[in-house]
Amino acid sequence: MAETINKSEEQWKEILSRDQYIVLRQKGTEAPFTGKYYANKEKGIYRCAACGQELFSSDAKYDSGTGWPSFFEPLSEDKVTLKPDHSHFMERTEVVCSRCGSHLGHVFDDGPAPTGKRYCMNSISLDLKKEE
Ligand code: FE
Repeated sequence: MAETINKSEEQWKEILSRDQYIVLRQKGTEAPFTGKYYANKEKGIYRCAACGQELFSSDAKYDSGTGWPSFFEPLSEDKVTLKPDHSHFMERTEVVCSRCGSHLGHVFDDGPAPTGKRYCMNSISLDLKKEE
């Protein structure tokens, strides 16, 4: 297992913007069709906006029509940690960054080939490092 980051919530508040904090640390969800990446088609690597860990390649990004950036797979399975989420009267699977534990979004089983997965992410949880 790679090195993990453990910061106090006070430390996260100093690093993150208020809106980032609400999603990344309090499991908020940005409104659909409002984030900066849902329609983005630029090539590069999407990193965790909290700790910088590389999470998703633009090669795995597709237009899910949901208004959130969606990917059919992470860069590798060890980049994300999946957790059962029973909140809001739903049974979902939460996706968090494996390095810093920050909330990224949820994963669903209605994605495209080859994986059939839809990693439904919040734009604000991501930071695209564009391909040179
Ligand atoms: Fe992270």
